[in-house]
Amino acid sequence: MRKKFIAGNWKMHKLRSETRSFFDELRDQISDASVFGRVDVAFGVPATLFDEALKARPQGVKILAQNCHFEPQGAFTGELSTAMLQDAKVHGSIIGHSERRQYYAETSQAVGKKWDALVKQGLLPCVCVGETRPERDSGRTVDVIRQQIDDSLSQVAKTSLTSEFIIAYEPVWAIGTGLTATPQMAQEVHQFIRAHLSQKVGHEIADRCRILYGGSMNAANAKELLSMPDIDGGLVGGASLKAVDFSKIILAASV
Ligand code: PEP
Repeated sequence: MRKKFIAGNWKMHKLRSETRSFFDELRDQISDASVFGRVDVAFGVPATLFDEALKARPQGVKILAQNCHFEPQGAFTGELSTAMLQDAKVHGSIIGHSERRQYYAETSQAVGKKWDALVKQGLLPCVCVGETRPERDSGRTVDVIRQQIDDSLSQVAKTSLTSEFIIAYEPVWAIGTGLTATPQMAQEVHQFIRAHLSQKVGHEIADRCRILYGGSMNAANAKELLSMPDIDGGLVGGASLKAVDFSKIILAASV
């Protein structure tokens, strides 16, 4: 049985004072601290909030970056290496988010290199994949996902694959749009991802891997999505910004 993993993606939102009040409110909403033991909770936050989030989080909550560079150091203005993330004491990073692929031309190969670099630094990669609306409409969803996974895996050393990684299936058309994949649509893709991982990296790793759904998950639809056999959690954008909304998703996952 895989433990559910609920991750917020704060994108370019919040200041330090807002981070403190968010976690105070989250504690008010979830007074039973054992909830954070029953479900893994994480937040992908801007680097300016690493320290504050690490101080203010409830015990057990993981703090993630939203991106990293795969090179250990060098002339890469504006970037952060995985050693820097580890030094900042964060637990891992979201990588390959569709916004990074779309606005910063991030390729699946680059995502694979980041995956490898994170694992080698002892950090948790949360690898996003997902199809666009035209790709779904033309029946290419699983081909696109397969290609994204294979291109990334081609850059990950075999030895790195034994370390934990998380896959987030995020249909691009569902991100920030209020449109959600139905639980059945999402389950179909999650099942495909697990079966494909099983072929590529073996049954044991695929069975252990937590596959999150992302795309307008909210307090109202989380329970049904999370009840599907291959949906092991959620990557949540908009609904992670308010503690009152996000706490409901955490509680839906903690039953
Ligand atoms: C995301 O950005 O990862 C995401 C899923 O956003 P939203 O929940 O707002 O659709």
